[in-house]
Amino acid sequence: MPKLGRVSIIGAGPGPADLLTVRAVRLLRAAEVVLHDDLVSPDVLSLCSATAQVIRVGKRCGRLGYSQEQINCLMVHYGRQGFEVARLKSGDPAVFGRLGEELDALRQAGIEFEVVPGVTAVTAAAAAAELTLTDRRAASSLLVVTPHTARDAAPRQLFDLARTTVAVYMPGPDYGHTARELMQAGIDPSTPCAAVSGAGRRGQQIHTLALGDLEQAHEIPAPAVLIVGQVAGAAGHDKDSPSIAQECLCAVAARTCPAHPQL
Ligand code: SAH
Repeated sequence: MPKLGRVSIIGAGPGPADLLTVRAVRLLRAAEVVLHDDLVSPDVLSLCSATAQVIRVGKRCGRLGYSQEQINCLMVHYGRQGFEVARLKSGDPAVFGRLGEELDALRQAGIEFEVVPGVTAVTAAAAAAELTLTDRRAASSLLVVTPHTARDAAPRQLFDLARTTVAVYMPGPDYGHTARELMQAGIDPSTPCAAVSGAGRRGQQIHTLALGDLEQAHEIPAPAVLIVGQVAGAAGHDKDSPSIAQECLCAVAARTCPAHPQL
């Protein structure tokens, strides 16, 4: 049986290598192919194995920049070849990191993957500036936005509730109350939610349901975080429950990559 490849999408944090997670360091050292963004620091890259193929796929290097489609092609290509691939992204991959598109590509190609979180810019900035992002005396929510849009996207408001992901810490035990508050704030009852209990721990649970059905969610053990928004509809399953990824068609691999016609 040929060796199966695996892609680890790794949060590289804000820059210093000692702000990487222990898991990120382990996977980075073991990676045979590293695909990294421009913002990933030389300090972090110095942890790559001397024999690894290290490819800068950032979009800031002008003519040499890779399109997202090309990056997806590379991940799928090397994963298919049986390599241990590290896809290194600055900060946390789930925050302004095009993670959704990369996960779609890997799922469609049926390639095994893992997402390793990293320290995102805003928490690194808060630590650097010695300030708190929430304060029970003064600030009860945190809004993460960007004025940048995808190149082909229509102009939009900086903050549009229908395009917002809301993360609710301490959502239980009265999930019905939490849901009513969110709906009163203007969020549509059909909005997908992912309630994630014990994230990353043994016994982790992921429940996906519509906001309007959240009242039924009282079985979710604490600690949990509730993620509300269109992105929650693509939540993965617990690893021990059957994965739909393995059954998907290899649509991405069937496409040719403009930068790598040999793929
Ligand atoms: N996935 C990243 C964000 C990528 S978008 C994360 O979770 O942090 C890139 C933007 O992140 C930069 O333009 C800047 O606004 C911010 N950023 C990234 N690294 C940073 C750092 N070390 N200090 C301050 N801002 C940073």
